[in-house]
Amino acid sequence: MRLKLLGSACFGSFFSLVRFHLFKMATTAASSLQMATARPCMSSSRRAFVSSAAMLNGNFKLASWTKLSSACHIASAQPFHRSFTSSSLKMDKFVTKAMAGASENKPASGLPIDLKGKRAFIAGVADDNGYGWAIAKSLAAAGAEILVGTWVPALNIFESSLRRGKFDESRVLPDGSLMEITKIYPLDAVFDNPEDVPEDIKTNKRYAGSSKWTVQEAAESVKSDFGSIDILVHSLANGPEVVKPLLETSRKGYLAALSASSYSYVSLLKHFLPIINPGGSSISLTYIASERIIPGYGGGMSSAKAALESDTRVLAFEAGRRKGIRVNAISAGPLRSRAAKAIGFIDMMIDYSSANAPLQKELSAEEVGNTAAFLASPLASAITGGVIYVDNGLNAMGVGVDSPIFEKLDIPKAQH
Ligand code: NAD
Repeated sequence: MRLKLLGSACFGSFFSLVRFHLFKMATTAASSLQMATARPCMSSSRRAFVSSAAMLNGNFKLASWTKLSSACHIASAQPFHRSFTSSSLKMDKFVTKAMAGASENKPASGLPIDLKGKRAFIAGVADDNGYGWAIAKSLAAAGAEILVGTWVPALNIFESSLRRGKFDESRVLPDGSLMEITKIYPLDAVFDNPEDVPEDIKTNKRYAGSSKWTVQEAAESVKSDFGSIDILVHSLANGPEVVKPLLETSRKGYLAALSASSYSYVSLLKHFLPIINPGGSSISLTYIASERIIPGYGGGMSSAKAALESDTRVLAFEAGRRKGIRVNAISAGPLRSRAAKAIGFIDMMIDYSSANAPLQKELSAEEVGNTAAFLASPLASAITGGVIYVDNGLNAMGVGVDSPIFEKLDIPKAQH
Protein backbone atom coordinates (compact mmCIF):
# COMPACT_ATOMS: atom_id res chain seq x y z
CA MET A 1 0.00 0.00 0.00
CA ARG A 2 2.75 2.37 1.03
CA LEU A 3 4.65 1.55 -2.16
CA LYS A 4 1.56 2.27 -4.20
CA LEU A 5 1.16 5.66 -2.54
CA LEU A 6 4.77 6.54 -3.05
CA GLY A 7 4.48 5.46 -6.67
CA SER A 8 1.56 7.73 -7.39
CA ALA A 9 3.28 10.64 -5.64
CA CYS A 10 6.35 10.10 -7.83
CA PHE A 11 4.20 10.00 -10.98
CA GLY A 12 2.57 13.27 -9.94
CA SER A 13 5.90 15.04 -9.67
CA PHE A 14 7.20 13.32 -12.82
CA PHE A 15 4.32 14.71 -14.85
CA SER A 16 4.65 18.19 -13.41
CA LEU A 17 8.35 18.04 -14.25
CA VAL A 18 7.59 17.06 -17.85
CA ARG A 19 4.97 19.80 -18.07
CA PHE A 20 7.47 22.28 -16.68
CA HIS A 21 10.12 21.35 -19.23
CA LEU A 22 7.66 21.39 -22.13
CA PHE A 23 6.61 24.78 -20.96
CA LYS A 24 10.20 26.00 -20.72
CA MET A 25 10.82 24.75 -24.28
CA ALA A 26 7.73 26.56 -25.48
CA THR A 27 8.96 29.88 -24.07
CA THR A 28 11.70 29.99 -26.68
CA ALA A 29 9.14 29.72 -29.49
CA ALA A 30 6.96 32.74 -28.66
CA SER A 31 6.42 34.89 -31.75
CA SER A 32 7.11 38.62 -31.84
CA LEU A 33 3.42 39.28 -32.57
CA GLN A 34 2.44 37.60 -29.32
CA MET A 35 5.05 39.64 -27.52
CA ALA A 36 3.63 42.85 -28.90
CA THR A 37 0.20 42.06 -27.47
CA ALA A 38 1.38 41.48 -23.90
CA ARG A 39 0.51 44.41 -21.62
CA PRO A 40 1.98 43.68 -18.21
CA CYS A 41 1.01 47.03 -16.69
CA MET A 42 -2.74 46.47 -16.92
CA SER A 43 -4.86 45.35 -14.00
CA SER A 44 -5.89 41.72 -14.24
CA SER A 45 -9.55 42.58 -14.83
CA ARG A 46 -8.66 44.99 -17.62
CA ARG A 47 -6.26 42.47 -19.17
CA ALA A 48 -9.01 39.86 -19.24
CA PHE A 49 -11.39 42.30 -20.83
CA VAL A 50 -8.96 43.48 -23.48
CA SER A 51 -7.89 39.98 -24.41
CA SER A 52 -11.48 38.84 -24.82
CA ALA A 53 -12.33 41.95 -26.82
CA ALA A 54 -9.40 41.35 -29.17
CA MET A 55 -10.23 37.70 -29.52
CA LEU A 56 -13.79 38.43 -30.52
CA ASN A 57 -12.81 41.09 -33.07
CA GLY A 58 -14.74 43.79 -31.24
CA ASN A 59 -17.95 41.80 -30.86
CA PHE A 60 -18.69 42.80 -27.29
CA LYS A 61 -22.00 40.93 -27.18
CA LEU A 62 -20.06 37.72 -27.18
CA ALA A 63 -17.86 38.81 -24.30
CA SER A 64 -19.93 36.78 -21.86
CA TRP A 65 -18.39 33.68 -23.44
CA THR A 66 -15.18 34.59 -21.73
CA LYS A 67 -16.97 34.30 -18.41
CA LEU A 68 -17.65 30.70 -19.27
CA SER A 69 -14.21 29.95 -20.60
CA SER A 70 -12.03 27.96 -18.27
CA ALA A 71 -10.16 30.15 -15.85
CA CYS A 72 -7.01 28.14 -16.56
CA HIS A 73 -6.61 30.00 -19.85
CA ILE A 74 -6.29 33.38 -18.26
CA ALA A 75 -2.94 35.10 -18.21
CA SER A 76 -2.20 36.34 -14.72
CA ALA A 77 0.92 38.09 -16.01
CA GLN A 78 2.05 40.90 -13.72
CA PRO A 79 5.55 41.76 -12.69
CA PHE A 80 6.52 41.11 -9.07
CA HIS A 81 6.56 44.54 -7.48
CA ARG A 82 9.79 43.62 -5.77
CA SER A 83 11.27 43.25 -9.23
CA PHE A 84 11.22 39.46 -9.54
CA THR A 85 11.02 39.77 -13.32
CA SER A 86 13.99 37.90 -14.65
CA SER A 87 14.21 37.75 -18.44
CA SER A 88 12.95 34.15 -18.40
CA LEU A 89 9.93 35.21 -16.38
CA LYS A 90 9.18 37.91 -18.93
CA MET A 91 9.25 35.34 -21.71
CA ASP A 92 6.92 33.12 -19.70
CA LYS A 93 4.28 35.81 -19.77
CA PHE A 94 4.20 35.94 -23.55
CA VAL A 95 3.61 32.25 -23.83
CA THR A 96 0.82 32.43 -21.28
CA LYS A 97 -0.74 35.11 -23.41
CA ALA A 98 -0.33 33.02 -26.53
CA MET A 99 -2.08 30.09 -24.93
CA ALA A 100 -4.94 32.33 -23.87
CA GLY A 101 -5.44 33.47 -27.45
CA ALA A 102 -5.45 29.93 -28.75
CA SER A 103 -8.26 28.58 -26.64
CA GLU A 104 -10.36 31.42 -25.25
CA ASN A 105 -12.87 31.46 -28.07
CA LYS A 106 -14.35 28.12 -27.09
CA PRO A 107 -17.02 27.98 -24.39
CA ALA A 108 -15.89 25.67 -21.57
CA SER A 109 -18.01 22.70 -20.76
CA GLY A 110 -19.01 21.97 -17.18
CA LEU A 111 -19.08 24.45 -14.35
CA PRO A 112 -15.76 26.30 -14.16
CA ILE A 113 -14.49 28.16 -11.14
CA ASP A 114 -13.91 31.64 -12.43
CA LEU A 115 -12.06 34.18 -10.29
CA LYS A 116 -10.97 36.46 -13.11
CA GLY A 117 -10.78 40.07 -11.94
CA LYS A 118 -10.63 39.01 -8.26
CA ARG A 119 -7.71 39.76 -5.99
CA ALA A 120 -6.63 37.55 -3.08
CA PHE A 121 -4.46 38.26 -0.05
CA ILE A 122 -3.05 35.06 1.41
CA ALA A 123 -1.43 35.37 4.82
CA GLY A 124 1.05 32.61 5.68
CA VAL A 125 3.11 31.77 2.59
CA ALA A 126 6.86 31.39 3.05
CA ASP A 127 7.73 28.40 0.86
CA ASP A 128 6.11 26.08 -1.67
CA ASN A 129 5.29 23.22 0.73
CA GLY A 130 2.33 24.49 2.69
CA TYR A 131 -1.38 24.96 2.25
CA GLY A 132 -1.00 28.72 1.68
CA TRP A 133 1.09 28.13 -1.45
CA ALA A 134 -1.34 25.51 -2.76
CA ILE A 135 -4.28 27.85 -2.18
CA ALA A 136 -2.43 30.65 -3.98
CA LYS A 137 -1.90 28.34 -6.94
CA SER A 138 -5.51 27.24 -7.16
CA LEU A 139 -6.77 30.82 -6.88
CA ALA A 140 -4.26 31.88 -9.57
CA ALA A 141 -5.32 28.98 -11.80
CA ALA A 142 -8.89 30.25 -11.50
CA GLY A 143 -7.73 33.69 -12.66
CA ALA A 144 -7.30 35.60 -9.37
CA GLU A 145 -4.48 38.05 -8.78
CA ILE A 146 -2.27 36.93 -5.90
CA LEU A 147 -0.87 39.00 -3.03
CA VAL A 148 0.79 37.23 -0.11
CA GLY A 149 1.68 38.11 3.47
CA THR A 150 4.92 36.49 4.63
CA TRP A 151 6.13 36.20 8.21
CA VAL A 152 8.91 38.80 8.58
CA PRO A 153 11.70 36.42 9.73
CA ALA A 154 11.00 34.19 6.70
CA LEU A 155 10.68 37.04 4.19
CA ASN A 156 14.24 37.32 2.86
CA ILE A 157 14.69 33.63 2.20
CA PHE A 158 11.26 33.37 0.55
CA GLU A 159 11.89 36.36 -1.71
CA SER A 160 15.38 35.29 -2.68
CA SER A 161 14.28 31.70 -3.37
CA LEU A 162 11.49 33.02 -5.57
CA ARG A 163 13.86 35.37 -7.37
CA ARG A 164 16.42 32.63 -7.96
CA GLY A 165 13.76 30.40 -9.52
CA LYS A 166 13.81 27.82 -6.73
CA PHE A 167 10.01 27.59 -6.82
CA ASP A 168 9.60 27.77 -10.61
CA GLU A 169 8.73 24.11 -10.91
CA SER A 170 6.00 24.39 -8.31
CA ARG A 171 4.73 27.65 -9.79
CA VAL A 172 3.45 25.80 -12.88
CA LEU A 173 -0.32 26.16 -13.27
CA PRO A 174 -2.59 23.69 -15.08
CA ASP A 175 -2.34 25.68 -18.33
CA GLY A 176 1.46 25.58 -18.20
CA SER A 177 1.93 29.22 -17.20
CA LEU A 178 3.72 30.18 -13.98
CA MET A 179 1.85 31.54 -10.99
CA GLU A 180 2.67 35.21 -10.55
CA ILE A 181 2.71 36.79 -7.10
CA THR A 182 1.96 40.43 -7.70
CA LYS A 183 3.32 41.58 -4.36
CA ILE A 184 4.71 40.13 -1.15
CA TYR A 185 3.92 41.97 2.07
CA PRO A 186 5.90 41.49 5.25
CA LEU A 187 3.57 40.41 8.05
CA ASP A 188 3.67 39.41 11.67
CA ALA A 189 0.11 38.53 12.55
CA VAL A 190 0.64 38.57 16.32
CA PHE A 191 0.92 42.35 16.29
CA ASP A 192 -2.08 44.49 15.37
CA ASN A 193 -0.40 47.90 15.15
CA PRO A 194 3.00 49.52 15.78
CA GLU A 195 2.10 50.36 19.41
CA ASP A 196 1.86 46.61 20.14
CA VAL A 197 5.41 45.83 19.06
CA PRO A 198 7.78 45.32 22.01
CA GLU A 199 11.30 46.73 22.02
CA ASP A 200 13.03 43.35 21.62
CA ILE A 201 11.16 42.72 18.35
CA LYS A 202 11.74 46.27 17.08
CA THR A 203 15.48 45.80 17.54
CA ASN A 204 15.58 42.15 16.44
CA LYS A 205 17.84 41.74 13.43
CA ARG A 206 15.37 39.36 11.78
CA TYR A 207 12.96 42.30 11.55
CA ALA A 208 15.56 44.85 10.42
CA GLY A 209 15.02 46.04 6.86
CA SER A 210 11.24 45.44 6.90
CA SER A 211 8.58 47.92 7.88
CA LYS A 212 4.80 48.20 8.11
CA TRP A 213 4.36 44.54 8.95
CA THR A 214 1.71 44.71 11.68
CA VAL A 215 -1.77 43.57 10.62
CA GLN A 216 -3.18 47.08 10.51
CA GLU A 217 -0.25 48.39 8.47
CA ALA A 218 -0.35 45.46 6.04
CA ALA A 219 -4.05 46.13 5.40
CA GLU A 220 -3.30 49.84 4.91
CA SER A 221 -0.49 49.03 2.46
CA VAL A 222 -2.74 46.72 0.42
CA LYS A 223 -5.40 49.44 0.42
CA SER A 224 -3.00 52.10 -0.82
CA ASP A 225 -1.48 49.77 -3.46
CA PHE A 226 -4.64 48.14 -4.80
CA GLY A 227 -7.70 49.71 -3.14
CA SER A 228 -9.47 46.47 -2.40
CA ILE A 229 -9.36 42.68 -2.32
CA ASP A 230 -11.99 39.99 -2.84
CA ILE A 231 -10.52 36.99 -1.03
CA LEU A 232 -8.73 36.85 2.32
CA VAL A 233 -6.94 33.64 3.32
CA HIS A 234 -5.46 32.91 6.76
CA SER A 235 -3.03 30.02 6.43
CA LEU A 236 -0.82 30.47 9.45
CA ALA A 237 -0.39 29.04 12.90
CA ASN A 238 2.24 28.90 15.58
CA GLY A 239 2.36 27.26 18.99
CA PRO A 240 5.72 27.62 20.72
CA GLU A 241 4.92 24.74 23.10
CA VAL A 242 3.14 22.51 20.56
CA VAL A 243 5.19 19.47 21.54
CA LYS A 244 4.09 19.70 25.20
CA PRO A 245 0.94 17.99 26.47
CA LEU A 246 -1.76 20.44 27.53
CA LEU A 247 -1.18 19.59 31.19
CA GLU A 248 2.43 20.77 30.84
CA THR A 249 1.71 23.87 28.75
CA SER A 250 2.48 27.22 30.36
CA ARG A 251 0.02 30.09 30.38
CA LYS A 252 2.44 32.01 28.16
CA GLY A 253 2.72 29.18 25.64
CA TYR A 254 -1.05 28.61 25.57
CA LEU A 255 -1.82 32.30 25.02
CA ALA A 256 0.91 32.55 22.38
CA ALA A 257 -0.72 29.68 20.45
CA LEU A 258 -4.08 31.43 20.59
CA SER A 259 -2.58 34.79 19.65
CA ALA A 260 -0.71 33.49 16.58
CA SER A 261 -3.22 30.89 15.44
CA SER A 262 -6.67 32.27 16.35
CA TYR A 263 -6.71 35.95 17.25
CA SER A 264 -4.48 36.59 14.24
CA TYR A 265 -7.50 35.67 12.11
CA VAL A 266 -9.90 37.93 14.00
CA SER A 267 -7.39 40.76 13.59
CA LEU A 268 -6.82 40.09 9.88
CA LEU A 269 -10.51 40.04 9.11
CA LYS A 270 -11.13 43.12 11.26
CA HIS A 271 -8.49 45.14 9.43
CA PHE A 272 -9.14 43.84 5.92
CA LEU A 273 -12.97 43.83 6.11
CA PRO A 274 -13.27 47.50 5.05
CA ILE A 275 -11.40 46.72 1.82
CA ILE A 276 -13.04 43.39 0.96
CA ASN A 277 -15.40 43.94 -1.95
CA PRO A 278 -19.06 42.94 -1.65
CA GLY A 279 -19.47 39.26 -2.49
CA GLY A 280 -15.99 38.56 -1.15
CA SER A 281 -15.01 35.73 1.11
CA SER A 282 -12.53 34.69 3.73
CA ILE A 283 -11.04 31.28 4.51
CA SER A 284 -8.88 29.90 7.32
CA LEU A 285 -7.22 26.53 7.86
CA THR A 286 -8.09 24.35 10.82
CA TYR A 287 -7.43 20.82 12.03
CA ILE A 288 -9.54 18.00 13.49
CA ALA A 289 -7.64 18.30 16.82
CA SER A 290 -10.13 21.10 17.58
CA GLU A 291 -12.88 18.55 18.21
CA ARG A 292 -11.19 15.14 18.67
CA ILE A 293 -8.23 14.12 20.78
CA ILE A 294 -5.00 14.07 18.77
CA PRO A 295 -2.18 13.17 21.18
CA GLY A 296 0.96 15.15 20.31
CA TYR A 297 -0.86 18.25 19.04
CA GLY A 298 -0.25 20.13 22.26
CA GLY A 299 0.76 23.49 23.64
CA GLY A 300 -2.79 24.83 23.35
CA MET A 301 -2.87 24.30 19.57
CA SER A 302 -5.99 22.12 19.85
CA SER A 303 -7.61 24.92 21.86
CA ALA A 304 -6.48 27.48 19.26
CA LYS A 305 -8.13 25.49 16.45
CA ALA A 306 -11.33 25.15 18.50
CA ALA A 307 -11.34 28.94 18.97
CA LEU A 308 -10.68 29.45 15.25
CA GLU A 309 -13.69 27.31 14.32
CA SER A 310 -15.97 28.99 16.83
CA ASP A 311 -14.79 32.39 15.60
CA THR A 312 -15.51 31.29 12.01
CA ARG A 313 -19.19 31.04 12.92
CA VAL A 314 -19.37 34.34 14.79
CA LEU A 315 -17.31 36.17 12.15
CA ALA A 316 -19.54 34.72 9.42
CA PHE A 317 -22.49 36.34 11.15
CA GLU A 318 -20.81 39.67 11.76
CA ALA A 319 -19.07 39.99 8.38
CA GLY A 320 -22.17 38.64 6.63
CA ARG A 321 -24.48 41.18 8.22
CA ARG A 322 -22.07 44.08 7.80
CA LYS A 323 -20.87 43.48 4.28
CA GLY A 324 -22.25 40.23 2.89
CA ILE A 325 -18.80 38.63 3.22
CA ARG A 326 -18.64 34.85 3.64
CA VAL A 327 -16.36 33.26 6.26
CA ASN A 328 -15.41 29.58 6.19
CA ALA A 329 -12.71 27.27 7.50
CA ILE A 330 -11.17 24.25 5.81
CA SER A 331 -10.36 21.40 8.19
CA ALA A 332 -7.45 19.88 6.33
CA GLY A 333 -5.87 16.48 6.69
CA PRO A 334 -2.17 16.01 7.41
CA LEU A 335 0.39 17.56 5.03
CA ARG A 336 4.18 17.46 5.30
CA SER A 337 4.56 21.27 5.49
CA ARG A 338 7.37 23.09 7.25
CA ALA A 339 5.10 23.88 10.23
CA ALA A 340 3.82 20.30 10.46
CA LYS A 341 7.34 18.85 10.35
CA ALA A 342 8.22 21.04 13.32
CA ILE A 343 5.53 19.28 15.38
CA GLY A 344 7.44 16.05 14.85
CA PHE A 345 4.84 13.35 14.08
CA ILE A 346 3.48 14.35 10.69
CA ASP A 347 4.62 11.17 8.92
CA MET A 348 2.76 9.09 11.50
CA MET A 349 -0.39 11.15 10.93
CA ILE A 350 -0.12 10.69 7.16
CA ASP A 351 0.33 6.92 7.60
CA TYR A 352 -2.56 6.82 10.08
CA SER A 353 -4.80 8.57 7.59
CA SER A 354 -3.79 6.20 4.79
CA ALA A 355 -4.60 3.23 7.02
CA ASN A 356 -7.87 4.50 8.46
CA ALA A 357 -9.58 7.07 6.22
CA PRO A 358 -12.38 6.05 3.85
CA LEU A 359 -10.14 7.18 0.95
CA GLN A 360 -6.80 5.40 1.28
CA LYS A 361 -4.62 7.91 -0.55
CA GLU A 362 -2.18 10.60 0.46
CA LEU A 363 -3.84 14.00 0.62
CA SER A 364 -2.41 16.55 -1.80
CA ALA A 365 -2.18 20.23 -0.90
CA GLU A 366 -3.83 20.93 -4.26
CA GLU A 367 -7.04 19.27 -3.05
CA VAL A 368 -7.20 21.83 -0.25
CA GLY A 369 -6.28 24.63 -2.69
CA ASN A 370 -9.08 23.64 -5.04
CA THR A 371 -11.59 23.60 -2.19
CA ALA A 372 -10.47 27.10 -1.24
CA ALA A 373 -10.97 28.23 -4.85
CA PHE A 374 -14.49 26.78 -4.79
CA LEU A 375 -15.29 28.43 -1.44
CA ALA A 376 -14.00 31.76 -2.76
CA SER A 377 -16.07 31.51 -5.93
CA PRO A 378 -19.68 32.47 -6.59
CA LEU A 379 -20.41 28.73 -6.77
CA ALA A 380 -20.26 28.75 -2.95
CA SER A 381 -22.41 31.87 -2.59
CA ALA A 382 -24.63 30.33 0.10
CA ILE A 383 -21.86 28.70 2.13
CA THR A 384 -20.72 30.62 5.19
CA GLY A 385 -19.90 29.86 8.82
CA GLY A 386 -18.87 26.36 7.79
CA VAL A 387 -16.00 24.04 8.58
CA ILE A 388 -15.38 22.04 5.42
CA TYR A 389 -13.37 18.82 5.82
CA VAL A 390 -10.76 18.08 3.17
CA ASP A 391 -9.14 15.04 4.73
CA ASN A 392 -10.04 11.95 2.67
CA GLY A 393 -12.98 11.54 5.08
CA LEU A 394 -10.90 10.71 8.15
CA ASN A 395 -13.09 12.98 10.29
CA ALA A 396 -16.04 10.65 9.73
CA MET A 397 -14.37 7.63 11.33
CA GLY A 398 -15.37 6.61 14.85
CA VAL A 399 -12.56 4.07 15.30
CA GLY A 400 -9.10 3.44 13.92
CA VAL A 401 -9.68 0.39 11.74
CA ASP A 402 -6.00 -0.58 11.77
CA SER A 403 -6.26 -1.54 15.43
CA PRO A 404 -5.29 -5.21 16.09
CA ILE A 405 -8.60 -5.48 17.91
CA PHE A 406 -10.33 -5.52 14.53
CA GLU A 407 -8.03 -8.22 13.16
CA LYS A 408 -10.86 -10.70 12.71
CA LEU A 409 -13.20 -8.19 11.09
CA ASP A 410 -13.19 -8.30 7.32
CA ILE A 411 -12.37 -4.62 6.75
CA PRO A 412 -12.10 -3.77 3.05
CA LYS A 413 -8.84 -2.22 1.79
CA ALA A 414 -8.42 0.10 -1.21
CA GLN A 415 -8.73 -1.99 -4.40
CA HIS A 416 -6.90 0.50 -6.65
P1 NAD B 1 3.26 26.32 6.61
O1 NAD B 1 4.56 26.25 7.33
O2 NAD B 1 3.28 26.31 5.13
O3 NAD B 1 2.42 27.60 7.03
C1 NAD B 1 2.47 28.25 8.25
C2 NAD B 1 2.86 29.67 7.96
O4 NAD B 1 2.61 30.49 9.09
C3 NAD B 1 4.35 29.83 7.64
O5 NAD B 1 4.49 30.46 6.38
C4 NAD B 1 4.85 30.75 8.75
O6 NAD B 1 5.89 31.60 8.32
C5 NAD B 1 3.58 31.51 9.07
N1 NAD B 1 3.58 32.19 10.36
C6 NAD B 1 3.86 31.68 11.58
N2 NAD B 1 3.72 32.64 12.51
C7 NAD B 1 3.35 33.77 11.85
C8 NAD B 1 3.06 35.10 12.26
N3 NAD B 1 3.15 35.47 13.54
N4 NAD B 1 2.70 36.00 11.31
C9 NAD B 1 2.63 35.66 10.02
N5 NAD B 1 2.88 34.41 9.57
C10 NAD B 1 3.25 33.49 10.49
O7 NAD B 1 2.40 25.13 7.20
P2 NAD B 1 0.92 24.62 6.93
O8 NAD B 1 0.87 23.30 7.61
O9 NAD B 1 0.55 24.70 5.51
O10 NAD B 1 0.03 25.61 7.78
C11 NAD B 1 -0.97 26.46 7.22
C12 NAD B 1 -2.26 26.31 8.00
O11 NAD B 1 -2.78 25.00 7.75
C13 NAD B 1 -2.09 26.44 9.51
O12 NAD B 1 -3.20 27.12 10.05
C14 NAD B 1 -2.11 24.99 9.97
O13 NAD B 1 -2.50 24.84 11.31
C15 NAD B 1 -3.14 24.44 9.00
N6 NAD B 1 -3.20 22.99 8.91
C16 NAD B 1 -2.09 22.27 8.60
C17 NAD B 1 -2.15 20.88 8.54
C18 NAD B 1 -0.94 20.05 8.19
O14 NAD B 1 -0.93 18.84 8.39
N7 NAD B 1 0.10 20.65 7.64
C19 NAD B 1 -3.38 20.23 8.79
C20 NAD B 1 -4.50 20.99 9.08
C21 NAD B 1 -4.40 22.37 9.15
